[in-house]
Amino acid sequence: MLRTLVRPANAVFEVNLGAIQANFQVISALVGPHVRVAAVVKSDAYGLGLVKIARALINAGCDLLFVANLDEALLLRSSHVDGLIAVFWDDLAKFGRSYRSNGLIPVVNNCAQLEAVMATRTQPYFLNVETGFSRFGLTFSDVRRAYLSGTFDRFPPSVVLSHLACSERVADQTNILQRNRFRTIYDLLRPASGSLAASAGVWLGKSYHFDMVRVGSALYGLNDAGIQPNPLQPVAGLRARILDVRNVARRESVGYGATFRTDRNSRVAIAGIGFKNGLPWACANKISVRIAGYLAPVIGTICMEYIVVDITDVPEALSSPGTFVTLLNEDFTVDDLATSVGANPAELLTRLGAGCTRRYLNSC
Ligand SMILES: *Cc1c(COP(=O)(O)O)cnc(C)c1O
Repeated sequence: MLRTLVRPANAVFEVNLGAIQANFQVISALVGPHVRVAAVVKSDAYGLGLVKIARALINAGCDLLFVANLDEALLLRSSHVDGLIAVFWDDLAKFGRSYRSNGLIPVVNNCAQLEAVMATRTQPYFLNVETGFSRFGLTFSDVRRAYLSGTFDRFPPSVVLSHLACSERVADQTNILQRNRFRTIYDLLRPASGSLAASAGVWLGKSYHFDMVRVGSALYGLNDAGIQPNPLQPVAGLRARILDVRNVARRESVGYGATFRTDRNSRVAIAGIGFKNGLPWACANKISVRIAGYLAPVIGTICMEYIVVDITDVPEALSSPGTFVTLLNEDFTVDDLATSVGANPAELLTRLGAGCTRRYLNSC
């Protein structure tokens, strides 16, 4: 029989549910009472935990969730998450019955999917239209053809949506082009609701909000638009335990490829976090961890399970084995980490915390 060993966690990933709820309120206040704030919880809520995050958002007053596929939607339903759930992409021809029996709303992304929802009489449905992203969505000529044949009279979409390509850049002309194209289709179809903006689009102003915004990254504390002062609260915390401490003589190399060489007799700590936990390889020699008010640089490469930290300048009493070093907190966020290593913040967030002990804080 395999015995469960009891020992402290090597790495702890903390998700502040209260901060997610506060960010939901920030966006809601910003768009005002006439614009619905739908929450995007796809990809396991950006890696933070689909069911926990969905519940926290519903408790905060959110009444529409977007998931990536049917698997995520069915997980929510089987976890007794009621309310409106829209599915960005799945096989509508094959799974029409699953949508209907679980009360799930399909997003229709092309003409074949439009035919599928009509054939299976799946209602309501959301219609995605292409305005400049070239990923999903009916093109203008698709919309025109369906419109002229009376499809939308017989079978109107409840929401028409599209996705912005450049919303992080306020002055980008692509935003105006996409908004004008969207407005044309919106005025033609006159749906109950239109939705163009995701997180960064919220800050492009009222003319981008239409009736609903679809926010993911902002809820999770990512400030994609770089708004200053940042109105969003950071959500993720990350800590790792010091497993071992050793002395490394001056001029010795540290880690794979000997990318770091000590310039003094050093004390280093080996902490129990690595790239298996989503800490990017690109962090090598680029970031620092916090130990009780001290900043200690990560030296050498990120290993699969470990990092090496230079603690020469940290008092020994504060950096002995068993102590935790902090990689992410309110002062050094996922956005900061992304900037340090030239990564995409959402990509980082979806990978961070894998294999860590998870703690969920402050849900109300
Ligand atoms: C992921 C996604 C969103 C949410 O984007 P954020 O920038 O994270 O807010 C909104 N709409 C669509 C279609 C998406 O794919």
